[in-house]
Amino acid sequence: MPVKRKNRGRRKGKGRKGREEYTYCSNCGKRIPRDKAIRVERRLSLVDPQLAKELKKQGAVVMSSPIIKYYCVSCAVHFGVVKIGGYSERMAREEL
Ligand SMILES: [Zn+2]
Repeated sequence: MPVKRKNRGRRKGKGRKGREEYTYCSNCGKRIPRDKAIRVERRLSLVDPQLAKELKKQGAVVMSSPIIKYYCVSCAVHFGVVKIGGYSERMAREEL
């Protein structure tokens, strides 16, 4: 069967078959398999970044909490998180 991507757009490969847990898209709420979802992690600091820089210089510990978001493929493409690659890029093995 001809495939568009070597990993078929998902992380489950030869050794990892079967059902995957589902998650919801952070933007549109679509239900997607967790391995297909595009994970975006950002750090949110409560302190202003310039002030945090200065505080770190003086040796203070500035706390920041990670924000993890899962996007469905169409939302990720729309927001520019991932780009539609060329043929060779798609067929390249993705290590994740
Ligand atoms: Zn979505």
